Amino acid sequence: MIPLLVITSLLHGCESTPHYNRTKVVNVGTPLPKKPYGNVKLYQSKEEVPSSYDVIAIMSVEGKAGEEAQFIKAFLYRAADLGADAVIFYRVSLAAGTELGQRYISTSIFTLPSDFDSWPDRYDGVLPQHIEQMRRNLHARDRFVKWAIDAGYSDAAVYRPMIKRWILHKLLDKAYQEKQVDTTVVALLVRSAITHGDDYHCVVTGDADILPAIRVAYPEYSKNVFVATTHPDELAAEHRQTSFSIARFQFRIPPVYLQDHVAKIIQGEYVYECTHCHRVFARARPIPKSARPCCAPCHGKRT
Ligand SMILES: [Zn+2]
Repeated sequence: MIPLLVITSLLHGCESTPHYNRTKVVNVGTPLPKKPYGNVKLYQSKEEVPSSYDVIAIMSVEGKAGEEAQFIKAFLYRAADLGADAVIFYRVSLAAGTELGQRYISTSIFTLPSDFDSWPDRYDGVLPQHIEQMRRNLHARDRFVKWAIDAGYSDAAVYRPMIKRWILHKLLDKAYQEKQVDTTVVALLVRSAITHGDDYHCVVTGDADILPAIRVAYPEYSKNVFVATTHPDELAAEHRQTSFSIARFQFRIPPVYLQDHVAKIIQGEYVYECTHCHRVFARARPIPKSARPCCAPCHGKRT
């Protein structure tokens, strides 16, 4: 096994703004001793690599096509520092004309029966606050789905099953599993990947449990499927195992970690990063220049 580094370079074809953002490095293997500069090989695809290899890190950078030579030089130095023998360089063009294809959102939003408010009187263990909690949860989901539809997502895979008493109990215990949604996502992805073989297909999910099913249903997944998800470091310890398993899948396009782009995608007029916990948050009014940005939970802890 040769230790190897995967690099994705997002090149803007004709963008005039010089968006040479920070290089991001995600380590996915064990740290290795440094290698001498000048010995790191450069490959343009994984098919060029002559033997089997281990991916030890993924680096990405955004910039103009004209800066490519500089990126490569910087990457090769960085790779030597990380102990890599070689680098695979992927170019992802974000040039004008890149179009989003079909988008689907899949989730279930429970339909409440007309007598739902009387459940606490009729059933043991159902409390008025459960009814309230459920209504709020459904409202939030409904709003989320509406936003997605406004953004061009199809709602064909949104389920609206009638809630049952046993489901409410499972939901309250956080033990309810949406099998139907996972199955639908895999089916939609496979259909899309096969019928549009020349396109790229993205699975946006917070749950890496879906990946094994994708691998079985579409063994060619590594070619044109990639995942957008939350960053493993930010997930609670009990979820880490599943999220880290992303690294075991041979995606040709490395995962997009949403946390790396929060500042760009969060809604709100004034977006800040908390000085204490680095969470990104938005406010309706600006924070005075003299004050250091502090999120609500951190502010609560300090006062
Ligand atoms: Zn904070």
